[in-house]
Parts: sequence; C-alpha cells; structure tokens
Amino acid sequence: MQITYQFRLYPTPEQVEKMNRTLELLRRLYNAAKEQREIAYKQFGQAVFYSMQQSELPVLKTEFPSYKEIHSQVIQDCLRRLDDAFLRFFRREAGYPRFKSRDKYLSFTYPQHGTIKKTFAEEGYIYLSKIGHVKMNAHRNFDRAKVTQINVKRYADKWMTNIQVKVEETETVSRPEKVVGIDLGLSSFATLSNETIINTPRYLRKAEKRLKRYQRRHSRKQKASSNREKSRQKVAKAYQQVARQRRDFLHKQSSLIVRDHDLIAVEQLKIKNMLRNRRLAKSIFDAGWSQFITYLSYKAKRQGKRFVKVPAHGTSQICLCGADVPKTLSVRIHECLTCGIIQDRDLVSAKVILQRAMSLIA
Ligand SMILES: [Zn+2]
Repeated sequence: MQITYQFRLYPTPEQVEKMNRTLELLRRLYNAAKEQREIAYKQFGQAVFYSMQQSELPVLKTEFPSYKEIHSQVIQDCLRRLDDAFLRFFRREAGYPRFKSRDKYLSFTYPQHGTIKKTFAEEGYIYLSKIGHVKMNAHRNFDRAKVTQINVKRYADKWMTNIQVKVEETETVSRPEKVVGIDLGLSSFATLSNETIINTPRYLRKAEKRLKRYQRRHSRKQKASSNREKSRQKVAKAYQQVARQRRDFLHKQSSLIVRDHDLIAVEQLKIKNMLRNRRLAKSIFDAGWSQFITYLSYKAKRQGKRFVKVPAHGTSQICLCGADVPKTLSVRIHECLTCGIIQDRDLVSAKVILQRAMSLIA
C-alpha cells in the first residue's frame, strides 16, 4: 500500500526558474510525443509505443540539449504519462488524449526514488536531481527508506511535493488506532485523514458528462415527436449506466474503508457544498455523497464498527490547533499561521472531522 505525504516546498527564485523550465520542457515533449504517435499512425498506419519513444530520448538530448537539464527518469515519466493516457483511451476509460496547455501540465515526477542518502541528506531540505536542495517543511515523520516516488507540483503561488511511501499492508491493519475522518469534496471525491485520496474514476465522470449531454439535447426535442421518444430512451439508458457504475464505485470504496478501520467519521452533508456543486450534474453528485454515507454507515454497523457523524460547521475553516483559518473555495492549501501546518485543505478538513468525532465519543 502506498501513502502519500504532501509537504510545502520553499524553492529559491533560481530553483523556481528551473522547475518552471522543467515543466515547460516536459509539456512540449508530451505534446511532441503525442503528435509523433498521431503522424505515425495517420501516415504509415503504425503504432508507436512507449518503449520506442523512450529509446529515442538520447537522440532528443543531442538535438535539444536543454533536455539534459532534466533528470532522465523525469523525462521518461513524462512519456509514460502520455502512454497511460493512450492506454486509458484504448480501454475506454478516458477520452482521447489532449495536447497540454501551460496550465494543464503542472507537475513532474521522479518515479524511482534514487539514493536516499542524498535525497534527504540535509535536514529540512529535499534534494531534487538537476534542481538542487530545495527547502521543505516536512511537518510529519515518514520512513525515508521506503520512499518510492517523489512528485513536485505547482499550485497558483506555491510549490508542493507529494512523497509516496510504501507501507506494508499488515502495518496499516495492525495499527493501534484504526480511525479515519472523511472529507467529501469536489476536487476529489473524498479525502481521508490518513492522507489517502479517492478520486472519481474517469469512466464515471465521462459517463456523467454523456448523460448530461443527452439530457440537454432531449430537452430541446419537440414534444410528442418520435425523435423525442428515441432521445428519452437514450437518456434513460445512460442514466441507468451512470447509476450502476456509481453504485459499484461507492460500494467498493466504502467496503475498503470499513474493512480497514474501526471508527469512521464523516460530516453531515453540507448544503453549502451542494450549492457549490451547481455546475455539475447536481442530483447525481448529491446522491453520490449521501449514498456513500449510507453505505459506510450500514457496512460499519454490520461489522461492529463505529460510525460517527459530526456537525459540518466550519470544518474547512478551522485548523487542527483550533485556530480559524478562513479561506475561499479557490484556496486549495490550508496554511495556519498559529501552528504552522501547511497542507491540502481537504486533508485538513478530514483530520478536523476525525478530531471532532474523537471528542464526541470521548
Ligand atoms: Zn493551526
């Protein structure tokens, strides 16, 4: 099992420049590699695979020496992302891969954690190959020997790192306190206080979009026309499909959470959240959340585990230390001036929810 720790980075201006340059070079490579696949296919009917593109990297570096400024595994990871995008498309889990604009290519990854000694040699710093020793606020302890992957991500005005650490399955199961808080959100389906993020699967988001499109078209069809009847059936069928896929997803996720924990805490559904949700297919998402809570609740009950609902008031505006940390929706990072923690806002909410639950049952 992999756990991801997210820490804030404090790069120097020079490092920021290097990281931005890395992102831009990778973005261009991604787009070029996508184009290469398309041209090969259209003109010669040939499929280009990851291994072929990867083997061309030395040539790329000779022709475009600026790519020598990037760690080779980071470059490989870029091609692998493209490969994944195509594979998901072929498996019908995602749409056709798109060219990446500047605001869509925001992170780079060191897929294999290199020499540990070097990466965390300096206290308070992380060593990123070709970038340098970057100041890092590691507010939590983690097993440095078990780091498997390091990702660097640019947010509007901050840089964060996601450090993936391998944890034995038995370690998590036998942890003395198997408690978890769950924040249901929009940017991801759910964030758990143990730093797990559950995303809505792509195939489901796709199906939901399709359904919305059908509904929109349907509402424009003339009353009592044969076209309208056909379109009604189409909508109904798409709806059934979405409902089934969503149920499967919710069942799977809720089962896993209940299996791994003795106490599960959620917040009472917030009207506020639902209003935020206007842009999305509202009924679908609302139903998703309350359905999820229902599943969690009865599965916990069946397995003799505790399920706690806490009042939702202010869970996204308060810190674990109790200080108020007001933030608008667009602020994704929780930064507390009182205790100094800096973390993803949904993660902090999940922890606040757990904290409230613990104080409720204490
Ligand atoms: Zn605080």
